Amino acid sequence: MAAHNNFLLIIFNCVLILQNAPFLAVALPLPEPISAKLRNDSQTIKLASTDYGRIIEEKPYGVFFPVNGSDIAGLIQFMYGSPTPMDIAARGHGHSVQGQSLVENGIVVNMTSLGGLDGRIVVSTTTAALGPYADVGGEQLWIDVLHATMAKGLTPLSLTDYLRLTVGGTLSNAGIGGQTFRFGPQISNVLELDVVTGKGELLTCSPTNNPELFYGALGGLGQFGVITRARIPLGPAPTRAKWVRMLYTNFSAFTSDQELLISNNGKEKSNGLNYLEGLLLLELKAPDNSSFYPLPDQPKISSLITQYGIVYVLEVVKYYDQQSAGCVDQDLEKLLTGLRFEAGLKFIKDVSYEEFLDRVHTDEVALRSLGLWDVPHPWLNLFIPKSKLFEFEWGVYRSIIQKRKLSSCVLLFYPMFKNKWDEKTSAVIPDEDVFYTAGFLFSSGFDNWQTFEEHNRDILKFCAEAGIGAKLYLPHFESQKEWVDHFGRKWPVFQQRKALFDPKHLLSPGQKIF
Ligand code: FAD
Repeated sequence: MAAHNNFLLIIFNCVLILQNAPFLAVALPLPEPISAKLRNDSQTIKLASTDYGRIIEEKPYGVFFPVNGSDIAGLIQFMYGSPTPMDIAARGHGHSVQGQSLVENGIVVNMTSLGGLDGRIVVSTTTAALGPYADVGGEQLWIDVLHATMAKGLTPLSLTDYLRLTVGGTLSNAGIGGQTFRFGPQISNVLELDVVTGKGELLTCSPTNNPELFYGALGGLGQFGVITRARIPLGPAPTRAKWVRMLYTNFSAFTSDQELLISNNGKEKSNGLNYLEGLLLLELKAPDNSSFYPLPDQPKISSLITQYGIVYVLEVVKYYDQQSAGCVDQDLEKLLTGLRFEAGLKFIKDVSYEEFLDRVHTDEVALRSLGLWDVPHPWLNLFIPKSKLFEFEWGVYRSIIQKRKLSSCVLLFYPMFKNKWDEKTSAVIPDEDVFYTAGFLFSSGFDNWQTFEEHNRDILKFCAEAGIGAKLYLPHFESQKEWVDHFGRKWPVFQQRKALFDPKHLLSPGQKIF
């Protein structure tokens, strides 16, 4: 991370601060176009000092509210030219969990202030060569992209489980979900980007135009520039979804059925499954009418959990529309024939396409009403090579999660294909054709998140000692040596791109890489 002596800050501290002025009204050596859009009232600073994780706190010097990409370019150009620049962190929706969008004594760029402009989502339906696509601002939430595209009968192809994340934020990581097995992560579904580099240049890039910047920025953890626009390919939007969960007590049957389904269902197969994930059940709360599982089946599921410790849930979705409504049930039945889930434990919901895609928001609303959304989130997300599945199950799920009764969290486990990821992007994945994502999405109290961080450390320790070859998704490390290990053979390229596009190490210091 850049450790800049903060000349501007010293001057700032020497002048009068108008505490509650909405924008900085002090004589700073900042050009007017920048100072006019910079705020440092206590409320603004407080909001930009933490993230969804609620674990790390870092106070910025100020928060910048750009109106357009040129404002961001102006800010970065100014800092790049300054002998004592401040660090700059783009903040999308602040849904990182380890302070990745924070910056101590630097400037947070509030990306969402770009979003008020009309024309930040433009859907093009008539391009023969590229097919339909949308040009979307980097600050846009995926839910808004979905709404705008659905209005024209179209949809992005690869979406995350939760859609209230920004386009720039997920593209800076990878953007994974139940469609990744089919279309790859979101970073495999981008045609072009506008990026403001760490020198303040506003550049358009694509696989053929500035490809180093394009591939660097995708999965680049905000290290090479601020993404202000992305061109996203679209496909026809279905209208409804058959949403299925099947319960397993045997890990081997669960994972081999997952792999069978994804290998039978490439995107070429128009009649295949559209979505596949998996989760672990270690507890079923008291009889619950709002559960995915019907009330009469809940005692049986609970007794299976008691008997086996963990019940594995294979979750799949088949989309349909008016035209395919007549055959969707038979098609689904055919796809699921021969699977080895527990007899009678297959449950199906029929919901709208949007209701399915925005499902986590339904949980969000419920959790918010209970005051359980804005709490610490000591999350861990891993990629596990297929060859180590059983060691992982034994060492992590059985020996840590089950033994310690860590039941009050969301545990995800589902496979994807390496060949749907572009090696040229900055994202890091295991070097095996099939790998799984394992999510440990803990929520905790403000006084006990450290306990969960310890569980996470134990999981990582087991993986390291057992030679699992796990890679962190949404990575977070304390030392550069760990980052070098994480990137492995990609590290030299990552470093070169940093030298090329952000030589002063100004951008996204919260990642703690440089
Ligand atoms: P922020 O947290 O604001 O920023 C993240 C990083 O990206 C920071 O380093 C920031 O500086 C940088 N950044 C932000 N915007 C830009 C930009 N425009 N240009 C360049 N750099 C930028 N991820 C998945 O892949 N799949 C999921 O299903 C999924 N579900 C989630 C559900 C929840 C409830 C939450 C909280 C997170 C989930 N995530 C998921 C993780 C999420 O993708 C990342 O945390 C992502 O960074 C969040 O986007 P954001 O807009 O909040 O980014």
